Amino acid sequence: MPAASSSLITGGLRSAAQLIFRSFPFPVEPGLRTFGNPDRNSPVFVTANFDHTVRLVSRVLANYDCYLLIAPTGGVNVWCASAGGHFGTDEVEAAIKLSGIDKLVDHHRLVLPRLAAPGVNVKEVRHRTGWRVVFGPIEIDDLPQWLEQSFPRLVADVVSFPWRRRVEMGVGAGLWPAVILGVPAGLIMGWRAGLAIAGLSYVLSVLFALVYPRMPAQPGLPQGIPLAVMLGAASGALARLADVNLWGVIFWTVTIAAMGVLVAIDFPSWSPTDVCKQQLLCFLYPATLAPAGFLPVVDEPKCIDGCDICVKVCPKGAMSLKDNHKATLFDPQGCLSCYACVQQCPVDAIS
Ligand code: SF4
Ligand code: SF4
Repeated sequence: MPAASSSLITGGLRSAAQLIFRSFPFPVEPGLRTFGNPDRNSPVFVTANFDHTVRLVSRVLANYDCYLLIAPTGGVNVWCASAGGHFGTDEVEAAIKLSGIDKLVDHHRLVLPRLAAPGVNVKEVRHRTGWRVVFGPIEIDDLPQWLEQSFPRLVADVVSFPWRRRVEMGVGAGLWPAVILGVPAGLIMGWRAGLAIAGLSYVLSVLFALVYPRMPAQPGLPQGIPLAVMLGAASGALARLADVNLWGVIFWTVTIAAMGVLVAIDFPSWSPTDVCKQQLLCFLYPATLAPAGFLPVVDEPKCIDGCDICVKVCPKGAMSLKDNHKATLFDPQGCLSCYACVQQCPVDAIS
């Protein structure tokens, strides 16, 4: 088989595995990679050592003469790692010092992914290493335009959550209900029932991901309970119509209702736009450095006139400047409690 086809198949299989087992880390070796023929003025980019991310970033950087530092983030993607405390100042410092990048370039400027802002304190990186951090765009596909038009300025950018992303999340999120409900179902009712439950878990998870932005209730139990009641009632009625015995009716009603609750309470914690809004999950599995429900408060006397770093760095566009040029959280509903504004304020005016 030609090498190009073989690497295409390998890449496809890796992507599929990383999609299905999305909640597991997929690390690659941290360190330095070079693209093209970099010289002493070439840009230095930094990313997380999550295999999927490194492949996406490498595809774009292959068009430039540059360096890429892969930081040791435990094989976790940029946003989850930075918000969860695995892609912070220590990891950037380690990437700089272990790579020897100091000896390869004359400048001291790193381009970091925007979604590393919750974890990486740029003041502290500069203090410890002498390197200046600039944040690029949120999406790697926007990097060429940013380099051409804005580099090295910080420009406002917000996360979007198009249907394709939600479907990917839905596939990843389907694993837990498939395992938690499919395995016991298989043991109790036989392998066909187990497979049916696992398959239904994926179908429901993807469908839920598609309609999620239009769900009327708040994420979590307010969405999960009505969904569970509807699904449980429908599956119980279908089982009854199919002449299943009483035990079977109870089994299908309870199992499908449980599936509805699991999918509804788990999915928001996977969503880039609702991360850590789901209080129960965020309590059990803290996804951000900030406590669940954290909302930033600006200390106005400390806030610098003319500064708008927190406004630009917010991935939801939830901060703005008031008429008196002081920053404020104008959209508390939109705030993800991601901590980026707190981390990046140059005078620690946000808490
Ligand atoms: S980053 Fe800090 S100083 Fe700058 S506008 Fe926001 S609160 Fe004010
Ligand atoms: S306002 Fe909320 S979402 Fe925006 S950067 Fe601050 S903590 Fe994150």
